[in-house]
Amino acid sequence: MSFFREHIKTNKIFFCCIAFILAFFVGLAIFVKSASVNISINTPDDTVKVTTIGNPTTAEVLAKADIELNAYDYTDVALDEKLESGDEVTVTRAKSIMVTDTKKTVAIKTALTSETDIMEQAGFNLDDDDTVQYMNKEGLSFYAHLKKNQKLIYEEDPIKYKTVYKKVATLGGAEEKVTQDGKNGKIKYIKIVTYGKDKKAKSSKTLYKKVASKPKNKIVQVAEDAKIIYTGSGSAPKKYSQKISVVATGYCPCAQCCGKSTGITASGARATAGRTVAAWSGLSFGTQVYFPYFSVNGNGGVFTVEDRGGAITGNRIDIFFSSHSQALSFGRRTLECYILK
Ligand SMILES: [Zn+2]
Repeated sequence: MSFFREHIKTNKIFFCCIAFILAFFVGLAIFVKSASVNISINTPDDTVKVTTIGNPTTAEVLAKADIELNAYDYTDVALDEKLESGDEVTVTRAKSIMVTDTKKTVAIKTALTSETDIMEQAGFNLDDDDTVQYMNKEGLSFYAHLKKNQKLIYEEDPIKYKTVYKKVATLGGAEEKVTQDGKNGKIKYIKIVTYGKDKKAKSSKTLYKKVASKPKNKIVQVAEDAKIIYTGSGSAPKKYSQKISVVATGYCPCAQCCGKSTGITASGARATAGRTVAAWSGLSFGTQVYFPYFSVNGNGGVFTVEDRGGAITGNRIDIFFSSHSQALSFGRRTLECYILK
């Protein structure tokens, strides 16, 4: 009997222990489950689910998920805020942007999205009348702080190709031969344009400039004896028919110089300094003449025959100036002159 009783007693203790251990683990599981918190973290790349226990802060959850914040990255929940199960945290990565106006350009990193906040971070003061224009081009983000009469624009302009002449001994009787066609290049700009009251562009500030494609020269072979002259304009060299020596004087639109002062030339064109010359009748209106003497001028030394004059006969040229004093100081000079084709 005693053996039997002992046996039951041992069994009771054994089952009690098992039941206790089971209850402990079930209780622990229930406790852990109820104490665990699930947080979702949205990053620009994906959504990360984090499960942890207790009352973690945003910073702790980010650390557990191995998400590092760089300077100026932004979380929509404060880093020291305690999170509860089901909470979501969104991480916005800071972007490099340029904040600009016509005076300065500031490069900043920011995760801010409000234009006012961005302007403030970059140290720009926004007046009521000002606007902010955003542009994302060429891998750059610009926030331009603009006045009412300004615009941020993106523009592509052609780069004109040049013509290069190469002298060759003979072209089999031909005067010239194109061996490579020219192709314009392309240049890209981002700029702030300021418009006048007439809505025309008054000035501009270039923020970005890039040659997208270089122009391809036009190559022309010319016979050794061809008449080619490189003018001061930097453009393609020009062909000329004749190189002569002329006696050049100056005149202006005053009555003393012209007997009238309308400024209208014999060809009907308005006399323009840097363009108009009077020549003898052998040179028809529209003929271009090149003076190496003036090659450093804005016109590269190239003028157009647009006028006549009583005293302007063979090998005499009268050059138009905008003032009488300029015409007088030019005086009377013997100049080398190319009559262009
Ligand atoms: Zn005059």
